[in-house]
Amino acid sequence: MLKIPEEGKLIDAGKFYNEVYRTYTIAKDRFIGVDQADLPDFVRFGEAVTGIIGELAYDFAPADAEPVVHGKWVAREYEDGARPYVLFHCSECDCPNARQRVYCPECGAKMDRE
Ligand SMILES: [Zn+2]
Repeated sequence: MLKIPEEGKLIDAGKFYNEVYRTYTIAKDRFIGVDQADLPDFVRFGEAVTGIIGELAYDFAPADAEPVVHGKWVAREYEDGARPYVLFHCSECDCPNARQRVYCPECGAKMDRE
């Protein structure tokens, strides 16, 4: 059954096109060694469709969305008299936190796990 994405789904157009091209290449590679003139019509059709998809993805207006900023927590050791402690600083805004949250509460960066 053909699956069609719902309107409003946000994707990375470059990654999408690379996957379209990769899929096309896998299909085309089944005909390595076949003379260009002897390629089946669907291979040439696939090449044309892949090109059209690439141009559409290039020209299509971007969605009204902010890119996700990724960061990571950087541990820093401090000393309070004789008691050492650690705070985790956001790599994007340097905001200190007592624990490693999923998002930085100061700048909103999405924190990647290592
Ligand atoms: Zn931050």
